[in-house]
Amino acid sequence: MLNIVLFGPPGAGKGTQSDKIIKKYNLTHIATGDLFRKHLSEGSSLGKLAQKYMNEGMLVPDKVVIDMVDDKIREDKDAKGFIFDGFPRTVPQAEALDKLLTEKNAPISRMIALEVPEEELKKRIKERGKTSGRADDQDEEKIRTRIKVYLDETLPVARHYEKQGKLAMIDGVGAIDDIFQKICVKIEEAR
Ligand code: ADP
Repeated sequence: MLNIVLFGPPGAGKGTQSDKIIKKYNLTHIATGDLFRKHLSEGSSLGKLAQKYMNEGMLVPDKVVIDMVDDKIREDKDAKGFIFDGFPRTVPQAEALDKLLTEKNAPISRMIALEVPEEELKKRIKERGKTSGRADDQDEEKIRTRIKVYLDETLPVARHYEKQGKLAMIDGVGAIDDIFQKICVKIEEAR
């Protein structure tokens, strides 16, 4: 099994690159932000709970996220591998994911971390906000909060996988296809 964590701050291009990775390697996409937005549009109780946090740019509580991912992994018994996008976002989430995958005897193969400077992130998120309809993309203060939460709570997750020798850093500024090529090299190394 090829299990990839696609990592990076909000606006780093995870969604764009994961679309391409999924097609090439035939992986199942687990994007926690997308899953929450789907629940929200369906009006489920999970969606309503998540909305409070998402709208403020805060993280949804670990237990809620982990249970949702656990369900998704169990749902897809025939998956050739998973790409985790926007997850894990805290060290406890990473520990929980490692445990779930150990049960399947299919640990994370590699973490691909996209690096993008903060000014560029803010620019991209605001640009996306014009069309995404996402409340959290349209407000300067919420964007700032999301970047701060990333630095405080999410960045330590890179260290978690670095300790396991799985971290691959990629420059996330440049042409989409060039970045994708660099990602592919790192994925091939891990297969
Ligand atoms: P972005 O990468 O642009 O911040 P996402 O779509 O990945 O956007 O996530 C949007 C929001 O959903 C986050 O700001 C957070 O509130 C919530 N969320 C998504 N994934 C997680 C997670 N793994 N843990 C906690 N909250 C999450």
